Amino acid sequence: MGAAAAVSCLPGALIIGSRLLGRDGVDLCIMHRMTGYWCPLCGGTRATRALMHGDLTSACGYNPFALMVLALGAAVLARWLISRRRGAPRPLLTAREAVVVFAVAGLFAVARNLPGMWAYLNPLLGPAG
Ligand SMILES: [Zn+2]
Repeated sequence: MGAAAAVSCLPGALIIGSRLLGRDGVDLCIMHRMTGYWCPLCGGTRATRALMHGDLTSACGYNPFALMVLALGAAVLARWLISRRRGAPRPLLTAREAVVVFAVAGLFAVARNLPGMWAYLNPLLGPAG
């Protein structure tokens, strides 16, 4: 089961890995390719790559929400690991936390696609469309 999951993730990992290394590839986002609108995670790979190079300004310019997700993901993972180590395992995310994350993602997606908001929320990606 684990091997099948790993094999099924391999193509995506190769695409994302090549993007993180700076090689241009295909547009990863189906929503952007089909509608022209930025989804909440558009620019996330470029933001991560910029962050890996220590360029926080560029990372924020690509996608500040993705940076928040990265930081929050690290904190949630640390919380989960600590709870397991203490012998009181808990879910990675509670249902309420997941709802909040998806609600914030939805609000960010709407806000970043409003006319003119790209200059504030994703200046390095440009306007939607
Ligand atoms: Zn996207």
